Amino acid sequence: MSECIFCSIASGDIKADIVYEDQNVIAFNDIDKKAPVHIVIIPKQHIPTILDIKKDSNIINDILHAVQKIAENQGISASGFRLVNNCNEHGGQTVFHLHFHLLGGRNMTWPPG
Ligand code: 5GP
Ligand code: ZN
Repeated sequence: MSECIFCSIASGDIKADIVYEDQNVIAFNDIDKKAPVHIVIIPKQHIPTILDIKKDSNIINDILHAVQKIAENQGISASGFRLVNNCNEHGGQTVFHLHFHLLGGRNMTWPPG
């Protein structure tokens, strides 16, 4: 099993409630939901942070395409949602495998804590 928890979810070694999958991206319900819809979207490939994405990579396109599909599937496109990436310590990142939080189903507040 991988040392990275999200790699283990992507490989199926650790079970998760998967809501979307394509060739390069997988998405699952967050284990500690902060909103009625709280989905974690990750590349299948291990990339530690947003700072490690290569210039010629298409992964952000792939992830945004997944966001559009998931938001539609979850019925939160029209009502709206928040897409969050936490990067490194001050960003509050706890899992060092690139991921985006898709939060919806309620009004979000600003600024975030
Ligand atoms: P971060 O704080 O790194 O931006 O977000 C990591 C997120 O992953 C947290 O919201 C946390 O609840 C979620 N998470 C951590 N471990 C697991 C797990 O094993 N399964 C699932 N479904 N979510 C997890
Ligand atoms: Zn990983």
